[in-house]
Amino acid sequence: MRKPLMTANWKMNKTVSEAVGFANNLKLVLRDAQDVEVVICPTFVALSEVSKILEGSSAKLGAQNVYMQENGAYTGEVSPLMLKELGCKYVIIGHSERREYFKEDNELINAKLKLALKYQLRTILCVGETLAEYQNNQTIDIVKAEIREGLAGVDKEQMGRVTIAYEPIWAIGTGKTATPNDANKVHKIIRKIISDMFDIKTGEKMRIQYGGSVKPDNISALMEQSDIDGALVGGASLSVESFIKIINYGKKD
Ligand code: PEP
Repeated sequence: MRKPLMTANWKMNKTVSEAVGFANNLKLVLRDAQDVEVVICPTFVALSEVSKILEGSSAKLGAQNVYMQENGAYTGEVSPLMLKELGCKYVIIGHSERREYFKEDNELINAKLKLALKYQLRTILCVGETLAEYQNNQTIDIVKAEIREGLAGVDKEQMGRVTIAYEPIWAIGTGKTATPNDANKVHKIIRKIISDMFDIKTGEKMRIQYGGSVKPDNISALMEQSDIDGALVGGASLSVESFIKIINYGKKD
């Protein structure tokens, strides 16, 4: 049984005081024993304060990025050691915005992922195709390359700390979503790629989140699919009201 994972990716939004306000409010409405795992990924500058608030709650802390070195002359970067010390349990790696605006390639993403895993962080590896690739029927080729190269050198034990987020880039922040059925088809193929790379058990255990304009009104249909194990949520995670509806999908108030 794969426990659903709902991750809030705030991107470059919320000042520290706004992040603190959100975390306090979320704690008030979050059920104690969640049947869904919840992760909040604020900006680096808000991690410390949000970490203190989430202590003792069922929500976990995550970072949106990490560097592939432990320390040294890498101006502006943050290492997995530093994230661990702040209480981060998760880190998002290879988000499409980092691939596009910061020119991160699969090799760099792989190095980041391996170092994060070495420090026992749970990693969310983002994969997905652009609109042009989607229209050229290249989705599977792109996703396969991103997974194979992103996970190169990762062993089976470490795979227990990896989640994959399938995010069609044309659906991120656009209001367009893949239909639940189409998304599920890609998720099934991702699971098969993982099973082929490792083994069937690893493929079956792997949580695969969907991301791309997930909202309170489309989450239930996505979660009904056999291979969708949660969501990576951008815009709709910025308000407690909408994010809690996503966390509590399928439940009556
Ligand atoms: C994301 O940030 O990964 C994302 C999917 O954003 P949105 O939900 O706004 O499309």
